Amino acid sequence: MDYAEHVIDLVGNTPLVKLNSMAAGLRPTVLAKVEYFNPGGSVKDRIALRMVEAAERSGELRPGGTIVEPTSGNTGVGLALVAQRRGYKCVFVCPDKVSEDKRNVLKAYGAEVVVCPTSVAPEHPDSYYNVSDRLVREIEGAWKPNQYANPENPASHYHSTGPELWEQTGGRITHFVAGVGTGGTISGTGRYLKEVSGGKVQVIGADPEGSVYSGGSGRPYLVEGVGEDFWPTTYDKEVADEIIAVSDRESFETTRRLAREEGLLVGGSCGMAAAAALRLAERLGPDDVVVVLLPDGGRGYLSKVFSDPWMTQYGFLPPAHSGATIGDVL
Ligand code: PMP
Repeated sequence: MDYAEHVIDLVGNTPLVKLNSMAAGLRPTVLAKVEYFNPGGSVKDRIALRMVEAAERSGELRPGGTIVEPTSGNTGVGLALVAQRRGYKCVFVCPDKVSEDKRNVLKAYGAEVVVCPTSVAPEHPDSYYNVSDRLVREIEGAWKPNQYANPENPASHYHSTGPELWEQTGGRITHFVAGVGTGGTISGTGRYLKEVSGGKVQVIGADPEGSVYSGGSGRPYLVEGVGEDFWPTTYDKEVADEIIAVSDRESFETTRRLAREEGLLVGGSCGMAAAAALRLAERLGPDDVVVVLLPDGGRGYLSKVFSDPWMTQYGFLPPAHSGATIGDVL
């Protein structure tokens, strides 16, 4: 019989898939590392597993303990999965702007979700930041992974994503492209690939226009999970050779193309990273092998990037014409 002992054992070892139609006419081979194949549906399962294991070893997380983290998304799902397996409780703190669907995903895995008002200042006692800090103080046996400062976040990529890519490409990878949020993915994977290739692999970050990594101040953008308005300690400034800034429009257009042309229903930050990879590939040669990491799946974004009214509302699609067309519900 061939089966996994537990779904957690399926974290990592995600496939590489060639981009065909979208890379047509470009000289390099462009491959996507498709992270929605992780059991929690995103790249964040990798960091959740390693952060929890390290906290168990250091004694910060003890049997019966509670994981408290301000997160509404992928990291929460990964932590909830690992927590369930190891018998920990999870309390996630998220602002009220987070959709009910996203909160329900976390609850489905058994986590408790505490919702805070978005409209209050960070120093207000009810703010997202203050509530999570207070819960850590008040809950007996609480531990906060803090993905923005936890060295196990980049370390998980140094020990898993990086070696997988080197092996899967038979050492032929020449360029690695990833979006930057906490910076864990690009710092850990990039550092490994640079070391193993003797500095030959080029590492390229993709960043939403306006975020600090591409020289902005943190101006709001719509693509989720990437870009910051501060410099997290999990981002290693030494690793990236170049940062490519991508607009929301190009990110979302490219996200839609990944679904429609490549059969990859993925999130908006995947479109952003793919847009950067395609721009890079335009200036490379036939021996180059570009790998772009796609962090999550697209199901969590059906009412955003994959919704025509939402895209129109933000000016990314022209206003719909009034006549009924195929597909309209009449
Ligand atoms: N895309 C999505 C959807 C994410 O949730 C994240 C993590 N914040 C990233 C990209 C960026 O990954 P990292 O935090 O490792 O830089």
